[in-house]
Amino acid sequence: MDNSYGRAQLVGYSSKINEAELTNKQKQESRNLVIAALVAPLIIVAAFQIAAFFYTEFSRLAWLILGIVLGIIIMIALLVQSTKRKHVTNFEGELVKKQVRKKSSGDPQTGMIETYYLHSLIFRDTKGKTQKYSERCATKEPTENAWSRYLQIGDKVRYHAQQDFFEKYDKSNDALLPCVECRTLFDIALNNCPQCNTTAIKP
Ligand SMILES: [Zn+2]
Repeated sequence: MDNSYGRAQLVGYSSKINEAELTNKQKQESRNLVIAALVAPLIIVAAFQIAAFFYTEFSRLAWLILGIVLGIIIMIALLVQSTKRKHVTNFEGELVKKQVRKKSSGDPQTGMIETYYLHSLIFRDTKGKTQKYSERCATKEPTENAWSRYLQIGDKVRYHAQQDFFEKYDKSNDALLPCVECRTLFDIALNNCPQCNTTAIKP
C-alpha cells in the first residue's frame, strides 16, 4: 500500500477508463439475450418433439405447432428484455434522489408472480436534465443494491454507459473503490483491482 498517496489527488475524473481495455457490458448483455432468443425456441421445439413420442394423444403436428407458438412467445419476450437497458447514454451529473419500490410482475392466474425491488437513482445532469437509472434486484432486502449504497445524495458522478459504471468525482472521503470490470470494492490506495487486475479508475 502506498501511504504517500494524497487524498487531494482523489478529486476529479479519471481518464483511465478510456485507456483501459474493458468489456463493453452493454454489448455483451444484448448479445447474450439475442443468443438466448435464438436458442430457446429451438430447445422448446425439440423438447416437444420428444414429448410427442411419449404422449400420443396429440398428433406430432399438434406438438410441433405448440412448440413453435411457445418458442415464438419466448423469443419475443427475450428480445423485448434486450431493449430494456438500465440507462443508455453517458452523462455527468449530481445524485438528487434515491428510490426503492417493491414491485411484482407475472400472471396472478398461474401464480407465477415474481417480487423484486426496483432501485432508482435520479440525477440532475450538467445540462439541467433529469437522468434516471433503474435496476431490478431480486433480493429480499431493499438495501441490496451496490450503486445505491456506494453513491450518496449530492455526489457528482460520471456515468459510463458502455461499462454500466458510475465514477464519483470526489473520492477523497472514500476508503474503497469499485472495480469497473468485476465490481469488487477494493482499497482505494491500490492501482489495480486485486481480483482481476484491471486499472483502478481514479485520477
Ligand atoms: Zn476487478
